[in-house]
Amino acid sequence: MIFALDLEGVLAPEIWPALGQHFGVPEFSLTTRDVADFSELMGTRIAAARRAGVTLRQLQEISHAVQPYLGAREFIERLRPMGNVVIISDTFHEFSDPLAARLGGVNLFANRFDLDEAGLIRGFTLRIRGQKERIVSGFKVAGYAVAAMGDSMNDRSLLASCDFPVLYRPVQVLIDEFPGAPVAHDLDTALEYMQRARAQRDESTGG
Ligand SMILES: [Mg+2]
Repeated sequence: MIFALDLEGVLAPEIWPALGQHFGVPEFSLTTRDVADFSELMGTRIAAARRAGVTLRQLQEISHAVQPYLGAREFIERLRPMGNVVIISDTFHEFSDPLAARLGGVNLFANRFDLDEAGLIRGFTLRIRGQKERIVSGFKVAGYAVAAMGDSMNDRSLLASCDFPVLYRPVQVLIDEFPGAPVAHDLDTALEYMQRARAQRDESTGG
């Protein structure tokens, strides 16, 4: 069994709003909850960073200080005996690798930045956007059942392609789109749903 989790809004706070607040750049604070087109959103953020002269290293000083939500590390610890835990996120490795380490060294699938000689971000390589469904399909082809959890519109393909979708403090459109999916508002409840997914998978495969 594979547990595929979203990062921001589920296991840790959103990183970009923290950057927006610190650097006083309002474009950073927009999230996928505001702009559904991720490439457009990233283009806006990168242009704003270049205008403000903010380098990746400066952004990392803030993003590397982001702490998981209380209980997130324990949530993953309790999931691990039941299967493989992976985080599939629209974040960037350059921002979130330390966070993944703080969560207990969980596997992170994320995007990468392209930099210019001055250390300013000039673009990005999308490993994840539009690929969540493919990653989940790959797990399923390899014979794994997949339970997934996300909170926002950018998790739609992840949730739609998995076997057991769980919505975590979701935006309303996600509830409308997945009317049958359980909704968790805390990680204790989320763990119960994951245990239920594991039990259902055991029943269907005869243990
Ligand atoms: Mg999220």
